[in-house]
Amino acid sequence: MGTSWLFDIRSALLVGALLTLMIGMVLLVVGRSLAAEYRPSLFHWVAATLLQPAGFVMLSLRDQLDPWISTVLANACIALAFAAYARAVRLFYRAPSTRWLLSALVLLSVMISVYWGVVAPDLTLRLIAISLTLGGLLGYSAWTVFRHAERRGPIRLVTGGVFALAAGIMFYRAGALVIDPGLVTGVFQITHVQLLTYAVGSVLPVIATVGFLLMCTERSQRELERAARVDYLTDCYNRRAIEEQGARAMAAARRHGMPLAVLVIDIDHFKRINDELGHAAGDQALVQSVARIRAEMRTEDVLGRLGGEEFIVLMPNTDSASAVSAGERIRLGFASRPLQLAEGRRAATLSIGVAMLAPMDRHFSQLLQRADRAMYAAKNAGRNLVMADAMSGWEPGPPR
Ligand code: GH3
Ligand code: MG
Ligand code: MG
Repeated sequence: MGTSWLFDIRSALLVGALLTLMIGMVLLVVGRSLAAEYRPSLFHWVAATLLQPAGFVMLSLRDQLDPWISTVLANACIALAFAAYARAVRLFYRAPSTRWLLSALVLLSVMISVYWGVVAPDLTLRLIAISLTLGGLLGYSAWTVFRHAERRGPIRLVTGGVFALAAGIMFYRAGALVIDPGLVTGVFQITHVQLLTYAVGSVLPVIATVGFLLMCTERSQRELERAARVDYLTDCYNRRAIEEQGARAMAAARRHGMPLAVLVIDIDHFKRINDELGHAAGDQALVQSVARIRAEMRTEDVLGRLGGEEFIVLMPNTDSASAVSAGERIRLGFASRPLQLAEGRRAATLSIGVAMLAPMDRHFSQLLQRADRAMYAAKNAGRNLVMADAMSGWEPGPPR
């Protein structure tokens, strides 16, 4: 009763090989548009998608080819392909290179297929041992993805998941053969373990490659977002981003009934550094200035570059007395020693304006404007000074 279901593992292998080859070609084409930083990783990934079908084709021509090719070379290609995936994933995440480990696993699988494939043929032992080494290689890729990919992103699920599944099936095959050594009597015999193995072997390159492209686009996306928010020269928030942060800090301060202080910092006579030492020295001075300002900030303070040599520090949950003393700390720390520029040492100072969030502030720009005005007051009063916006005042403290 029922129709008989003809399934030929050889044809499945060839279809899988063709599919993998095609996905490799697609990757080659798509890869041209990927950023140069992905090249080394991409190269290994493409290598994997070419090596695996080569191995599959040799495996499926078992009856026509010498065992040195259909067993040893075929298994070497597959092990190399799985090692190439692992190397690609590690290169992508800039994880420490573990070539020796990958090479050792590939070498081990070659030795296994030479010994139990040619010297003293034993299908069961060979399948158990090969499954363990291939499972190790696949599991290593999965482990690397799980360690480095974002916790709740889709990459863990897609790339990490498919490698973990493939590794799991390899270990399952080894376990099933240990329990029942007579389970598989021929490579192309239709048993559930062989079907599972070849099914996952054919699906792996497709899903994993989709995952790899996802990894590349996600990282590019994140880098673009970062570039839009971070000042290229000084690596602190740019004007747009710091104003967003300011508005958010303002809302949070209001919600929690906490004070919010803003410092506007301007380097004194910065134009002279540029004029006398050159623009490159000016840039270097800006980078060092940011480091010095950062050194005096608390972890919850946020630094941004308003433009030119003007910076802003958001200080959540800080009253005006603390903000002024933080400004003093920054000013003194900055002036304590000259900037070390390639063109020589150069003394520099800061003028700092402090303003506090006030009940009538409707937009962050109003708070910023008051801090800016205080900074100009410091300039007019002779520079190298911290001035508080008159309206910010000192909070009425307990009577002394
Ligand atoms: P003051 O004490 O009044 O602040 O004097 P100043 O010379 O610092 O003031 P001013 O605002 O007139 O000059 C700022 C200079 O900063 C002008 C510009 O040449 C320089 N500048 C702005 N952005 C950059 C930059 O990205 N790199 C370099 N090297 N210089 C910059
Ligand atoms: Mg200046
Ligand atoms: Mg300025």
